[in-house]
Amino acid sequence: CHNELVRLKGNIRVFGRVRPITKEDGEGAEAANAVTFDANDDGVLHLLHKGKLVSFELDKVFPPQASQEEVFQEVQALVTSCIDGYNVCIFAYGQTGAGKTYTMEGTAANPGINQRALQLLFSEVRGKAADWDYAISVSAAEIYNESLRDLLGKEPQEKLEIKLCPDGSGQLYVPGLTEFRVQSVEDINKVFEFGHVNRATECTNLNEHSSRSHALLIVTVRGLDRSTGLRTTGKLNLVDLAGSERVGRSGAEGSRLREAQHINKSLSALGDVIYALRSRQGHVPFRNSKLTYLLQDSLSGDSKTLMMVQVSPAEKNTSETLCSLKFAERVRSV
Ligand code: ADP
Ligand code: MG
Repeated sequence: CHNELVRLKGNIRVFGRVRPITKEDGEGAEAANAVTFDANDDGVLHLLHKGKLVSFELDKVFPPQASQEEVFQEVQALVTSCIDGYNVCIFAYGQTGAGKTYTMEGTAANPGINQRALQLLFSEVRGKAADWDYAISVSAAEIYNESLRDLLGKEPQEKLEIKLCPDGSGQLYVPGLTEFRVQSVEDINKVFEFGHVNRATECTNLNEHSSRSHALLIVTVRGLDRSTGLRTTGKLNLVDLAGSERVGRSGAEGSRLREAQHINKSLSALGDVIYALRSRQGHVPFRNSKLTYLLQDSLSGDSKTLMMVQVSPAEKNTSETLCSLKFAERVRSV
């Protein structure tokens, strides 16, 4: 049924999610709501921008009241397809504060896609244990200023390189990237805590840093059918992207400007790659950024991709919201 859906709709989906208004949005006009939804179409969203109503059509739109469960329901078929050997990417895109980390990591009380996905994978492979042996492992990495760093390594890692497998398969791999075998949610929590520690000890402002780097959780599911000897490998890439706000235009200088240029470059490279894949162009420019190069295997072929475009509903954010929705519309336009 899932594959039927893929055949009909292609394998790249673009969803939108609108976070609720929060205290940080301020008071009065600033905190006014500028986003509305369509009663008849759950893929349509309207943005009031400079007195004009602009409408966007996505594959699905989640309003502020949508729960983490509801969001995960729309994602779970994608997640479990990596048990069958598919490669999957789920990206959270949007300006800082729009809810990317809430969607991917969530909170202790309301866990997001990452934890729900792992939980579901554990229970699915347990259900197949009569015929299949599965091994699930996780890696975590970040891309900051176009360099790739291991978030789970023992030592703070130097830059990691992305290499072509010597076996001629065309597959890419990252020598030295730490991979932990995990069998339970407790294992995962240990791994995550370690990753957070790794990330936090090296930067003075974790929040600021995480808004300028791409954070990747890479889950690999390897299966062996004991009766036939058939082997499968599927990869689930869960990516909390750097903030998409246009920093360079507000007079940033020095390292701040450099960060902004790297972010702009890699986000537009991602948009270009998805656009090229969706429009079935012959040449897909994977090599234009570390992110797209690293994920090449998981974006091409019969891989499945979900772009979750996160937006703020607040009046004061409408110009960034407009940019994010235009990004969504562009990658979806073919
Ligand atoms: P980002 O990662 O894009 O910078 P966050 O995920 O940190 O944004 O979200 C900003 C704030 O809004 C956080 O306090 C987060 O908990 C809250 N938030 C975001 N989305 C939701 C949501 N759907 N429901 C409730 N709170 C949310
Ligand atoms: Mg975040």
